[in-house]
Amino acid sequence: MRFLVVEDEKRIADFLARGLEGAGYAVDVASNGTTALEFIHATDYDLVILDVMLPGEIDGLQVLQKIRNRKVGPPVLILSARGTVDDRVRGLELGADDYLVKPFAFVELLARVRALLRRGQPAPERLQVSDLTLDCTRRKVNRAGEPIELAPKEFGILEYMMRNKGRPLSRTMIVEHVWDMDYDGLTNIVDVYIRHLRSKIDDRFPQKLIQTVRGIGYMIDAPDGKSAEKLLENSSERQV
Ligand code: CA
Repeated sequence: MRFLVVEDEKRIADFLARGLEGAGYAVDVASNGTTALEFIHATDYDLVILDVMLPGEIDGLQVLQKIRNRKVGPPVLILSARGTVDDRVRGLELGADDYLVKPFAFVELLARVRALLRRGQPAPERLQVSDLTLDCTRRKVNRAGEPIELAPKEFGILEYMMRNKGRPLSRTMIVEHVWDMDYDGLTNIVDVYIRHLRSKIDDRFPQKLIQTVRGIGYMIDAPDGKSAEKLLENSSERQV
C-alpha cells in the first residue's frame, strides 16, 4: 500500500511518514499542492492524507477537488488545524472521506486510515492462501496456526502478493507498491525480501506457497489453487 502525505510542515510530515512506514506502508511526501498533483498524476496511491493550508497557489481543498474530478481517485483524509464545523462540512462536501483536526494522536490517524482502506476496498480484512492467513487490520500473519513475525516491508510484500493471489507480479510492480519514490535502487531488493519471506513462511512447510515465475517475478498461490481460482472466475461468482 502506498500513501501520499501532503503537508508543508516538515516536522509533521516526517512524523507521519515515519509512523506510517513503521506500520508497513510506503509513503511519499509532497510539501505543496502543485507537487501533490504531479505525484497523484504519476502514481496510483491507495490513500492521500491532505493538509488544507498549503503554501503556494493551490491549497489542500483545491487538490481535493482535482482528485475528485478524476474518475477513480484514492480515498482522502483531510488533516487540518481548522476544526470549525464549517471547515469540516466544506471538506466533506468537496469529497473528502474523513477529516482529522490537528493536533491529533497518531493512533487515531492510523485507526482512521485503516477504516478508510477497508471502506474503499471491499476486500476482506483477512487474506488467506492455503493455511497461510494475514490479518490486514491487526497486521498479523499465521501459518498452520503458528504466528509469524514479519518486518514491515516483508509484511507489505506479502499483503500485496496475497491480495493478488494467483497473479504473477513483476519485481517492478512489487517495488512500486511497497517502496516509496525515495527508493531508487535496484529491483533486486525484491529477491532479497522474497528470500526472507520464504525462510519465514515456506521453508519449514512441505507445501511451498511463494512461486518464482520465470521471466516475470513472483506469485503466491496454493499449489493446487490455480484451477479452483479459474473455475470461480469463470462462474463469475468469485468470492474473495
Ligand atoms: Ca499547513
